[in-house]
Amino acid sequence: MEATFVIIGGGIAGVSCAESLSILDSDNSVILLSESALIKTATNVFAITRTLTSFEVKEDNFDSFISRYPNVKVIHDTLEKINEDSHTIKTKSQLTIKYRYLCLCTGATPKLIPQANNYPEILGIRDTDSVELLVSKLSKSKRIAIVGNGGIATELIYQIKNVETHWIIKDKHISATFVDPGAAEFFNEGILENKPTETIVCKRIRYNEENVARRGAALGPDWYKNLNISGSNSEGGKKIIIHYEVEVKDIHKEENGSLELILTNNEKVHCDLVVSATGVCPNLSFTCDKLQLSKDGFINVDEFMRTSVKDVYAAGDVCNANWEPAKHWFQMKLWTQARHMGCYAAKSMYGALSKEEVLQDFCFEIFSHSTKLFGFKVILLGLFNGQKLGTNYEILLRMTKKQEYVKFVLENNKLQGAILIGDTDLEEMCENLILNQLDLSPFGDDILNPDIDIEDYFD
Ligand SMILES: Cc1cc2nc3c(=O)[nH]c(=O)nc-3n(C[C@H](O)[C@H](O)[C@H](O)COP(=O)(O)OP(=O)(O)OC[C@H]3O[C@@H](n4cnc5c(N)ncnc54)[C@H](O)[C@@H]3O)c2cc1C
Repeated sequence: MEATFVIIGGGIAGVSCAESLSILDSDNSVILLSESALIKTATNVFAITRTLTSFEVKEDNFDSFISRYPNVKVIHDTLEKINEDSHTIKTKSQLTIKYRYLCLCTGATPKLIPQANNYPEILGIRDTDSVELLVSKLSKSKRIAIVGNGGIATELIYQIKNVETHWIIKDKHISATFVDPGAAEFFNEGILENKPTETIVCKRIRYNEENVARRGAALGPDWYKNLNISGSNSEGGKKIIIHYEVEVKDIHKEENGSLELILTNNEKVHCDLVVSATGVCPNLSFTCDKLQLSKDGFINVDEFMRTSVKDVYAAGDVCNANWEPAKHWFQMKLWTQARHMGCYAAKSMYGALSKEEVLQDFCFEIFSHSTKLFGFKVILLGLFNGQKLGTNYEILLRMTKKQEYVKFVLENNKLQGAILIGDTDLEEMCENLILNQLDLSPFGDDILNPDIDIEDYFD
């Protein structure tokens, strides 16, 4: 087999790369090789600002995808070896595919706590299979522990009901991956509220698959929608106990079959199930000798998404952005970044083939992320936690309990980042202020005065 562009991975990075290539160049052949039988696409994409988009995640089967992109061939197989000299790859079912350009979008897998190998009660969440397993085991559990303090742990804490939950975090405040201690305090009140899930509950969240993948694509935003994430306690039996600044040191199995977790402060936690949401490690279950990796094992890519191997690119969770980034951008393993990288890798590969100059995409100018935490709309822009600024920055805050939390990070009176929680309607203005670096000293603290419509200043 042979194709001009061969893309590995049916997650959002691989799929957006294939879609973009098909649009840029409908004459050249594209092969999308995916270990998962379903692929992920973004639908109803809607621009909130220049860099923020809202969208829905959709699982698509191969046939429906191919019908929309006729020059893309989708193969259900696993990459095993890249032979850079002959520009070929070898798959698990012994296919050899020759490529002109190759893009690796193999994603990442949850990094579980070290004890996970010995106890099947320790789970990670990544794809449809893992969530189905969680929902089923949870329905028989009275007490669980969630280890980790990022987006997945935070969403789970909010969604879970009818179970006693021990939240084990190594930081001084909750949701530390995304927010500062102030915002964590703002959320604290909402944690115990046992709000019902908004939509109809369905038991299965996927198409019927004959061939279940060993490694599906990451679920992405709103993965919990339509799911009944409930323990076996009676209705209203939700209780959350937060253990700050600790990690799991040891685990023992008790006689009654439940687990005893020993924390680093020697506290003991008893539970039936542990969800480990402690970051990810790259999916690199193939061989390629010259591929340069970052210290934590992800594939290093330059500003054109090129790896260290000639004509091999990488995008999404599997890669490490190893270029000098714009001041207000940094990498996080997020759906939007995987999508941006996939599209941009397509442009770069097409540029290399057609010998056209490629300019780095605008989306790498500013970090932007829109999500929901504890039922609130959350928008993170630029250096929202003062990342890269050392101690040389000021913070302006406005907070109305249970309504909104607005934080501006300023350096030399110029906006560097913002956290916007609630319906603040400030995202567009903040994005412009960060990108334009307008001197805000004439406005003083009025910039956050709720009685003044800030946008009037700029009209
Ligand atoms: C539960 C959960 C919730 C999340 N929530 C959010 C959120 O709210 N907002 C947000 O922005 N991000 C969220 N994320 C992160 C986001 O989903 C990921 O950053 C994004 O999906 C990564 O996409 P990807 O295409 O790089 O990788 P993946 O989606 O992991 O896709 C990798 C693909 O490669 C295939 N593959 C792997 N190895 C091979 C091989 N050797 N051969 C062939 N195919 C292979 C896999 O089968 C899969 O199809 C969440 C992630 C999880 C797990």
